Amino acid sequence: MRSFLSMPLIVDSHQDLAWNILSFGRDYLRSAQETRQIEKDTLTVAHNGDTLLGWQDYQDGQVAVIFATLYSTPARWAYDWETYFYKDSQEADRQYRQQMDLYHRLTDDHPDKFRFIRSASNLDEVLAGQQASDSVGQGYPVGLLPLMEGADCISDFGQLEEWWDRGLRFLGPAWAGTRFCGGTKEPGPLTNDGRALLSAMADLGFTLDLSHMDEPAVLEALDRYPGQIVATHANCLALMPEHAYNRLLSDRVIHGILERDGIIGVVPFNTFLKDGWLIGKSDREEVSLERLVDHIDHICQLSGDARHVGIGTDFDGGFGWQSTPKEIDTIVDLQKLIPLLLARGYSEGDAAAVLGGNWINQLRRSLPTL
Ligand SMILES: [Zn+2]
Repeated sequence: MRSFLSMPLIVDSHQDLAWNILSFGRDYLRSAQETRQIEKDTLTVAHNGDTLLGWQDYQDGQVAVIFATLYSTPARWAYDWETYFYKDSQEADRQYRQQMDLYHRLTDDHPDKFRFIRSASNLDEVLAGQQASDSVGQGYPVGLLPLMEGADCISDFGQLEEWWDRGLRFLGPAWAGTRFCGGTKEPGPLTNDGRALLSAMADLGFTLDLSHMDEPAVLEALDRYPGQIVATHANCLALMPEHAYNRLLSDRVIHGILERDGIIGVVPFNTFLKDGWLIGKSDREEVSLERLVDHIDHICQLSGDARHVGIGTDFDGGFGWQSTPKEIDTIVDLQKLIPLLLARGYSEGDAAAVLGGNWINQLRRSLPTL
């Protein structure tokens, strides 16, 4: 039995849970080890790697809150094997609604396992439940906060209010490029539609997720967006100078996020940690968790404090165990960051802030009270 009391809470700002459930039939009520047994030698592992996630693993690692995405792939970027993708905004709308319904159903059907977070009071209930379970050694419900990744599903801005009413609070306009802005592998600026989207988002109080947006769009959004700004899952370009496409954050962008008091969730994915590391080809033993600490430290050095970085694993989001640092077996092992941070001179308070405290503060600032 692990000791919960000594471990800080983890907030993971990126997991594609609904995409995994709908694409591969994964059941996150199971532990990662159970899912691996069931999926042994299947195409799921060939396509998406071994899972790193499961409810028991959330318990063992003290994972308190997960940003659970609404994500589907635009058809032009879908692999041959993909069954879950969209051809147009109507289809995206159907799929993203389906995923939001799925999170509502999961939290309604299993309130002892997962709770939906749409407000600061929901967050406080989740955190209080976890403290109570510490003292009696029982399991606790994990908070799920929905996050829209790619906004192709938005065809008119009136829909934003419906999304807000369904509990959406975080929105990233891009994955690949959208009509709103350039995205990963499809560069481009913010468009007029993108400017209108930001204005409608700000009116309602959304947090803007810059991950996947192309840099010219990011720079304009940093100037223009009056609300909360974050990057839920992105690493530092300065440490990955050979990286082949526009997915990482330049120091200029990091400075912009810091000026806006935003949080950056760093990703323990080997392709974003070691230049030249190729998914499906390279060996996970080549990459240490120290590399992730390098990215954490880089942001802290630019910031002058440890208050603007968190963890956005993107675990199971197109890669699995095979593509994570060698010290990681499941999400539980994010706790191994603590001794590594302490060894670099960070305090225990700093380390706890990086694992979860910074995101919790951001959520307290950004979520509506009730
Ligand atoms: Zn992503």
